[in-house]
Amino acid sequence: MLTLETAIEKAPGVGPALLKKLKRMKIKTVKELIFHFPYKYDDFTNNISISNLKINEVCTIFGKIIEIKTTQSWQKKIYITEALIEDKTGAMKALWFNQPYISKILKKDDSAFFSGKMVEGKNGSYLSNPSYEKSKAQADLMHTGRLVPAYSKTEGLTSKWLRFILKPILLQLKNFIPETLPQEILKENNLPSISKAIWEIHFPSSEKSAIEAQKRFSFEELFLIELFVLRERNLLSKEKSIPIETNIELIKKFVGSLNFKLTDAQKKCAWQILKDIEKEKPMNRLLEGDVGSGKTVVAAIAALNTAKAGRQIAFMAPTEILAKQHFSEISKLFQNFKLNIGLLTGKQDQFKSKKLKNQTIEISRKKLLEKTLTGEIDILIGTHALIQDKVKFGKLGLVVLDEQHRFGVQQRAKLVKNKVIIPHLLSMTATPIPRTLALTIYGDLDLSLIDELPKGRKKIITKIISPVERKETYKFIGKEIKNGRQIFVICPRIEEKEDGRKAVKTEFKKLKEEIFPELKVEMLHGKMTPNEKEEIMRSFKNRKADILVSTSVVEVGIDVPNATVMLVEGAEKFGLAQLHQFRGRVGRGEHQSYCFLFTDSESTKTKQRLNALIKCENGFELAEKDLEIRGPGDFKGTKQWGIPDLMMDALKDIKLVEKTRQSAKEFLQKDPYLKQYPLLHQKLSDFRQLIHLE
Ligand code: ADP
Ligand code: MG
Repeated sequence: MLTLETAIEKAPGVGPALLKKLKRMKIKTVKELIFHFPYKYDDFTNNISISNLKINEVCTIFGKIIEIKTTQSWQKKIYITEALIEDKTGAMKALWFNQPYISKILKKDDSAFFSGKMVEGKNGSYLSNPSYEKSKAQADLMHTGRLVPAYSKTEGLTSKWLRFILKPILLQLKNFIPETLPQEILKENNLPSISKAIWEIHFPSSEKSAIEAQKRFSFEELFLIELFVLRERNLLSKEKSIPIETNIELIKKFVGSLNFKLTDAQKKCAWQILKDIEKEKPMNRLLEGDVGSGKTVVAAIAALNTAKAGRQIAFMAPTEILAKQHFSEISKLFQNFKLNIGLLTGKQDQFKSKKLKNQTIEISRKKLLEKTLTGEIDILIGTHALIQDKVKFGKLGLVVLDEQHRFGVQQRAKLVKNKVIIPHLLSMTATPIPRTLALTIYGDLDLSLIDELPKGRKKIITKIISPVERKETYKFIGKEIKNGRQIFVICPRIEEKEDGRKAVKTEFKKLKEEIFPELKVEMLHGKMTPNEKEEIMRSFKNRKADILVSTSVVEVGIDVPNATVMLVEGAEKFGLAQLHQFRGRVGRGEHQSYCFLFTDSESTKTKQRLNALIKCENGFELAEKDLEIRGPGDFKGTKQWGIPDLMMDALKDIKLVEKTRQSAKEFLQKDPYLKQYPLLHQKLSDFRQLIHLE
């Protein structure tokens, strides 16, 4: 008997040739086949008789072939198959181009359904390239006369073939597909059963039922995500952590030592964090704030409080450059607080330990690791190197992850290494997370939001630059550099290719040799070694270069207050939120700063999209716009969830998200361990594995 787990080669109608193509599509089981959903439907439901045919109308007719022949055209050498078809009301012509085999399938006197569009040609009207199906009964149709599914990414396997093998399989399986959603959830939300939905998503009886079927699967996907994150939340709340009491005096002293006043938002977030780490259960918090909103100092407050309570802090940054930047910044912030701060980076073997009075000393890695184990190091700052097995903390109390997004949870797991006590986790990001995502794939994290920038920041002047304004813009840049400023130039790729996208290497050469031969130009990209990148960044920071041409690697966190111009080549190639991040690299000092978005694109849609950046300085609004325009796939962290494209759309639908979350919450309250729903339980375990493989 056929089941979901049946290997695809055992399914009816699947021969060796088909099997090869299915494997190329990564379809190995019946389940994978039937869960390969169509991306659209061709509407061939307009069943009419020949006398009612209208030009430019898509329709289906049923008729008998009076005559059929294939000829090859002289000039263009294409095959043309021409058929004369009649029904009781009249006759018409059908033409197929370059499908000579059709006259082997369709023969004189055959009756068949034909679906396509009537068009007006030089020699009269005809049905153009119609789909055809030799069938007697309307009810049996799958390629014509109905809503016909079309499948994407078919690797040489046509949608027609897919329909062909799908139909008998679905007919056999129809009533044997185990229901994954609880009955009550289906009922409450008015969703079709899985059997019905699977059938209807492939061969819908109406548009409405196709939409209902899609909705069911979207709901299911969201429901699983919600169950997953809510359960992770529950599980974590049962773990033990060390409560860190808030030392008000200490924090007052620290805040007083800063040469600026904290914003209200910073105070609010710091307070939320301090309250959280006072608890016995581990904190799991995401600190979100636009570039330049001052997240570091908020994390520093939590770190100081933790260190003075006798616990260690692991502070992880995504790149060496950032780790070093944090090391020097945090050392400076704590210069009067007598803390031992260590820096541990990647392969470079450059380890420093900082003790008392702002003195940085180099120590061996061995020593640094020893001091980490004994607890002598209060704060250890580093890159991913921190999660190596060799690094063992004696008294880890708090993990801070900069620009790490969702997956901080796993990184903490690696830092903890099967200990009973779980450290608190603070993840920081400048990527604004739209509300729908905050409630789904980020749903196991508590959020703290720094929603205001420090006062007195100058507005960055943003402009879209068309090709004719390029020269003028270079002139302006020349002036800025003469005044002592520095410039970032961002390109969408490293090396030039045929697609004409601007490349770092070409722009670098052009700027250095043609446009600004008297200036110092450097380049930076992901194919350089960490050492090289480090060196370039350092020299740019120290004003040893005027222009830095780079890929998006400068996106996160680098602080060069003297840079005043962010020039983005091929701006249309980037998401709005990402462009906003680039823009955040300038305007960090006292000087008026500029963001120039270069684009050759003539499309009004592109211009509209880029215009949003001029109007809007709020990363959140831009992220919501991105989600609307480009879908959630562009958000860091979403890809890893392996959510199919169709479901991705569901992640834009706040109403659906809220509804599913509510359902999942109530459901878990009734059955926290999903004892009554082994199938759901299984699906969640699969899900978990998928995510943790990342
Ligand atoms: P981000 O949130 O992008 O990580 P940072 O923490 O790097 O931002 O802070 C950006 C700059 O703003 C730093 O130089 C920091 O010292 C400064 N800063 C932070 N908070 C304030 C504030 N309340 N007022 C003025 N400057 C601040
Ligand atoms: Mg930062």
